[in-house]
Amino acid sequence: MSTPDSSNWGFETRAIHAGQEPDTSTGAITVPIHLATTYVQQSPGKHHGFEYARTANPTRLALERSLAGLEGARHGLAFASGMAAEDAIMQLLAPGDHLILGVDAYGGTFRLISKIYGERDIGWSAVDLSDLDALVAAIGPNTRQIWLETPTNPMLAIADIAAVVDVAHASGIDVVVDNTFATPYLQNPLHMGADVVVHSSTKYLGGHSDVVGGFVGTNRDDLAERLFFVQNAVGAVPSPFDCYLLLRGIKTLGVRMDRHCTNAAAVAELLANHSAVSQVFYPGLAEHPGHETAVRQMRQAGGMVSFVHAGGADAAIAMVSATKVFKLAESLGAVESLIEQPATMTHLSVADSVLAVDPGLVRLSVGIETTNDLLADLTEALSCS
Ligand SMILES: *Cc1c(COP(=O)(O)O)cnc(C)c1O
Repeated sequence: MSTPDSSNWGFETRAIHAGQEPDTSTGAITVPIHLATTYVQQSPGKHHGFEYARTANPTRLALERSLAGLEGARHGLAFASGMAAEDAIMQLLAPGDHLILGVDAYGGTFRLISKIYGERDIGWSAVDLSDLDALVAAIGPNTRQIWLETPTNPMLAIADIAAVVDVAHASGIDVVVDNTFATPYLQNPLHMGADVVVHSSTKYLGGHSDVVGGFVGTNRDDLAERLFFVQNAVGAVPSPFDCYLLLRGIKTLGVRMDRHCTNAAAVAELLANHSAVSQVFYPGLAEHPGHETAVRQMRQAGGMVSFVHAGGADAAIAMVSATKVFKLAESLGAVESLIEQPATMTHLSVADSVLAVDPGLVRLSVGIETTNDLLADLTEALSCS
């Protein structure tokens, strides 16, 4: 059986078939979970491409090809978590190097940079990446990487990927885009010139709150070679079962994202017209400062919505404790709707730093439940807070 060329297929077809061809030895329609740790060789070094499972595993390879296909990447690498994927990219830096990250970068990214790499002689600056002048001012002679998230977490700010790439490449700097919030269904950073795309596949890619994983994609052969070296040398690889769960989740990414986006748009509309809400952050709203850029670089505005409760921190805490369909929990991107207060939950590690958030802020990961049930749940919780 030959591997079909999937590059001309539409997104949903690639999500179901790219990298996930039927097993050639049995015809099994789904990718098998290959548990073997070692592979028999005909003579030393002569084998089917697999020797030892940390280095390469058939289930993981299917996942890597699947996600590479969705991001338009020549090279794809799967990791045990989003943070392990990010760590592999930061391993490309050397002492004395400097990187730039966004002011509302994911808290774990900020912690990895400030507490692990920052203490090993890697310099860093946090800037508002929607402000190109601020970005230019932060670039120094040793700047090697720009870490870009768009939309950001939890403020849902939008940065212009192509514009940041132009500025970065003029100074020989690599651009890494964390595409977790948008997913490859809504936005493809490599098509806009980014050097590396990274995902926490724990979120929308898995989509069912039951697997932790990470992914790195690139079209740069030089970076891919070093990343594969790090992946094998460090060994932060996902288990075959986790790869299988991700392959299963990816098949429905397109239909799930469509529903996340419609529900989130309805929720944003409701909040924008509610008296207990002082500010709504959703790139799909015309009044959002990044709306025009979002329309240009994203297919839809995504499933995340944040807002500031007019009653402040206490009212926000009461509200997030009162919803019934929206569950009070960290994380995001799965079928069920989640609600949280970033200041005391996901963003506690950045309190008192440049990344600190308003304690009245509430973040919603809007799921794929019935739209009216979500709207009724939020209306009810807002009325009792
Ligand atoms: C969750 C997340 C990460 C970290 O991924 P893990 O899978 O939890 O290690 C990185 N970036 C963003 C934007 C995330 O939401």
